[in-house]
Amino acid sequence: MGSMDPLTLATITGVTSAAKTTLDAILAVLSKGKGRDAEKAAKEALGLVSDLQARLLQFQEIALRLQEENAQLRAEIRQKEEGATERKQYERKTVGRSVVLVREDEPGNFYCPTCMEVKKHAIPLQPHPMRSGSFGSHFCSQCETSYRLRG
Ligand SMILES: [Zn+2]
Repeated sequence: MGSMDPLTLATITGVTSAAKTTLDAILAVLSKGKGRDAEKAAKEALGLVSDLQARLLQFQEIALRLQEENAQLRAEIRQKEEGATERKQYERKTVGRSVVLVREDEPGNFYCPTCMEVKKHAIPLQPHPMRSGSFGSHFCSQCETSYRLRG
C-alpha cells in the first residue's frame, strides 16, 4: 500500500482503460460475425473489466485518503519531534526566587517554564515595567506569570 502513489494508481487505471478499449474493439468485430457464443463471452469479459475499473477507482479513493492521513500524521510527528528537540535546549534553573528556563548558548536570557510546558513555545521573560509596582522583576507576556529573578 505504501508504494501505491497516485501516479502508480493512475497508471493502473490507464492500463485498465486501455484493456477496456481493446475489448470494445474485439466486441465490435465479433458482433459483425455470427458467433453468438463468442459475442456473449466478449460481453462478459467487458463486464468484468468494467467491474475491475470501478473497484480500481474505489481503491484509488481509499489510497488517496490513506495518503492524506499519512501526510497529516507525519506532520504531527515532525511537530512533536521538533518540540522535543526545542525543549532539550532549555534547562530549568533557579534564578532569584523563581525557576525559569535558560538556554546554554544565551545564559543571560530567561524563558517561561509554564509556556514551554503548556504551549511548547519558548517565551522570553521581560523585565516588569517600573510603574507596575509588581511582585516580580520579570513577567511572561503570554501567560502573564510574574517571576522574581532578583531575590
Ligand atoms: Zn508564560
